[in-house]
Amino acid sequence: MSDTLQLACELIRRDSVTPRDQGCQELMIDRLEAIGFRVERMRFGEVDNFWARRGDAGPVFCFAGHTDVVPTGPLTQWDSPPFEPTVRNGLLYGRGAADMKASLAAFVTACERFVAKCPDHAGSIALLITSDEEGVATDGTVKVVEALAARGELIDYCIVGEPTSEQVLGDTVKNGRRGSLSGHLVVHGIQGHIAYPQLAKNPIHLIAPALAELAATEWDQGNAYFPPTSWQVSNIQAGTGATNVIPGHCDVHFNFRFSPECTAEALKERVYQILDTHGLSYELHWLLSGQPFLTPPGDLTAALGDAIHYVAGAEANLSTSGGTSDGRFIKRIARELVEFGPVNATIHKLNECVDVEAIEPLADIYALTLEKLLPAA
Ligand SMILES: [Zn+2]
Repeated sequence: MSDTLQLACELIRRDSVTPRDQGCQELMIDRLEAIGFRVERMRFGEVDNFWARRGDAGPVFCFAGHTDVVPTGPLTQWDSPPFEPTVRNGLLYGRGAADMKASLAAFVTACERFVAKCPDHAGSIALLITSDEEGVATDGTVKVVEALAARGELIDYCIVGEPTSEQVLGDTVKNGRRGSLSGHLVVHGIQGHIAYPQLAKNPIHLIAPALAELAATEWDQGNAYFPPTSWQVSNIQAGTGATNVIPGHCDVHFNFRFSPECTAEALKERVYQILDTHGLSYELHWLLSGQPFLTPPGDLTAALGDAIHYVAGAEANLSTSGGTSDGRFIKRIARELVEFGPVNATIHKLNECVDVEAIEPLADIYALTLEKLLPAA
């Protein structure tokens, strides 16, 4: 069994359902300290995090990731127990196999290989690891980044080990993510008997034309890296259940996935304008859960792309699709940040798995990227 596969199995064996770490981080820390990393444990609330660094000089190259996993769902529907790593037909099964314990194991073995080959490498290698990514993400990466920012510790290159590959290892690297802005709108009407509409005010009828306008609005046209900003309604609720009552209010939940061509403030402004032109009486509460970010092609995308091509023979496509990740927090202190990891087809599903044959190449790609960006001094 290869050393990366073995470490991935040891990590999967720990049932680190978010936000619990269950000893995964100590396993990584032992290995990192043995090759000269200085490790700072950063516990916030109930959440374990650590920052590890080898070297004092710049540039700083950081691997970032999470040890927590999503809940298993019904155990009886797994073909093998989710926290017993099992290899069947060339696939390693277990909760977190793809998201993202194979990547964590590959971070560690990549560092071990690189340090053995270039003990006096240029710059610094760092790891930023949390156990609060899959949950509320309030005491995890965001807090570590705040602490690093407060003391002026910056990152030049960061690879977040999220599973980004789609068909085969190396086909997709994420070089940015869209922003996410949610709204909860309550439209006020006047409740009344459906037979006496002149005595009531129907909030569903009032909001319908405004929703049509919002749905038809072009917010921007995106750009070379981002699709156009999209506005979608996720829930609408109104009515008492009775068929003879005009409801008193209507609740609408919506979400923007937005490109850097828009700002959250500008989007809010345009929503208020549309609602106001329809003369609505309403309340609107906003939640901004992530700003968009982009790393244009540069040293990091070039080094990683070359490493992927050399090790896996794949041509990495740069993409900004998909949901949010901790990259949104780290970008604040990182000059160039991308996400790259194994195939994501089974993440968060029953029988999550990763191709065993992709695990060593993943570690080789990470190690070769280090070699390119932190050459021997
Ligand atoms: Zn993940």
